[in-house]
Amino acid sequence: MRVGMAGLIVAAALAWGLPDAASAQGRCETQRGQWADQAVANAISLYSLEWTPFGTTEWGWGTYLPLLQKEIGTDCEPGTSDFAAALAAFQARYALPATGGFDQATFDVLKGVLQERRPFVMARVRDECPDPPPLRELGYLEAPEEHADRLTRLLRRDVLASYRRMVAAARAEVPEVRNDPELLQIFSGFRDPEADAARCATERNCDGLRRAVCSPHRTGTAVDLYVGQLLGMGVDSTNPASRQFMTQGATYRWLVRNAGRFGFVPYLYEPWHWEWVGASASYGTP
Ligand SMILES: [Zn+2]
Repeated sequence: MRVGMAGLIVAAALAWGLPDAASAQGRCETQRGQWADQAVANAISLYSLEWTPFGTTEWGWGTYLPLLQKEIGTDCEPGTSDFAAALAAFQARYALPATGGFDQATFDVLKGVLQERRPFVMARVRDECPDPPPLRELGYLEAPEEHADRLTRLLRRDVLASYRRMVAAARAEVPEVRNDPELLQIFSGFRDPEADAARCATERNCDGLRRAVCSPHRTGTAVDLYVGQLLGMGVDSTNPASRQFMTQGATYRWLVRNAGRFGFVPYLYEPWHWEWVGASASYGTP
């Protein structure tokens, strides 16, 4: 028996008891006439693209999909024509060829857009390294907020207050977070630059010297949040498989959509690392 793609989707929706799946698919196919071919190409490259966005080979671009969807203003999946149309609009906005297809040039623009929202990065571009805050501006985490693998237990007080509001919202809105107290615990907050330098020397963990020379954690506004971990890998493993695992979880996806409400912006390369930039950190189109 020959079954068309639409038939398969409907059959899957019925089998999985997801009556909305077929209509959701329709909702993301309003641009079908123009973008159907590019939708198929995106669906394939999502898993098969071989590239080196950060120096080591990665396959596919699912790790960066939540941030890309947020930025281009769609929750449609890559295999849909509406995703391709939204991506083409983003490409046009940044003077790229509006192909609607994911590629390295589009990724580089996304990376630049996100980096520019981090005042710390902009300071580093100007060759400045922000001073640590005075100790009186730092507050201690409560024990339930500290991850077992923590490096530090201090954060700037205003950032800590925003973090607490964000965690309360995540618990209210995400069952996965509500049911697992480890999720969104902090494993690194304020890090004293001198202690960081000493750690770099003794543990030989210099993170490419960035940590020793000038880490965003010296500001007291950067937090490393537990967003899950791949079995056998660390809470801050930059292994591509580790980062891909983290970004597929409900916790990270919620952060991408909502952390801006609480003043936090993401770092594309590290799903756990967020920086507080102030009360109005909305980023991306809604
Ligand atoms: Zn960090």
